[in-house]
Amino acid sequence: CDACDGKGSKNPNDVETCPTCHGAGQVRMQQGFFSVQQTCSTCRGQGKIIKNPCNKCHGSGVADRQQTLEVTIPAGVDNGDRVRLSGKGEAIRDGQSGDLYVEVVVREHEIFQRDGADLYMDVPVSIADAALGKEIQIPTLDGRVSLKIPEGTQTGKLFRLRGKGVKPVRSSMQGDLLCRIVVETPVNLSSRQRELLKELQETMDGEDSKSSPKKKSFFDRLFD
Ligand SMILES: [Zn+2]
Ligand SMILES: [Zn+2]
Repeated sequence: CDACDGKGSKNPNDVETCPTCHGAGQVRMQQGFFSVQQTCSTCRGQGKIIKNPCNKCHGSGVADRQQTLEVTIPAGVDNGDRVRLSGKGEAIRDGQSGDLYVEVVVREHEIFQRDGADLYMDVPVSIADAALGKEIQIPTLDGRVSLKIPEGTQTGKLFRLRGKGVKPVRSSMQGDLLCRIVVETPVNLSSRQRELLKELQETMDGEDSKSSPKKKSFFDRLFD
């Protein structure tokens, strides 16, 4: 309580040592042969009596206060990690305040999905880039890097970029970034593009086409 400085009364002279327990907060009771220690009923274990209690804390010496705290989140924290704010927990009278623990919940990211120290991301590529190959720019946590898409890359292919993942708080092992290729079907074609694709389609319609290995084996198995 900041009104009484934790003393329980604005005037320090209004705080008296309990005459029953002499400030100990405990009294000894004789029961037959036994001596039993009990909490002092006069001061309820406080060891002192407050004649004119502080009206903010009603003599408890502790009061509620709202406070905005700044928390430093270390790089690499994950769900369930806790950051300790020493002395910012519950206050107790005449003692050290407890600690406040802030538990981290990591928000979903638009691009990256996290799996421990590793990150996953979907990389959309056009059918032309997937078929012919291309070097593309992809985002990582520390800037753009180039990724070489080899000729004939299929959807679902994973490329691992070592050391481009997350470095967990309690580990020196930096994770990897795994890029999952998603070949995108072209939409909103111009008439020229449509013409070119049609031409491509005709060249690929032959029965012994080697250009679509998956499709070929699929139909082969179906007809068998
Ligand atoms: Zn007070
Ligand atoms: Zn007492």
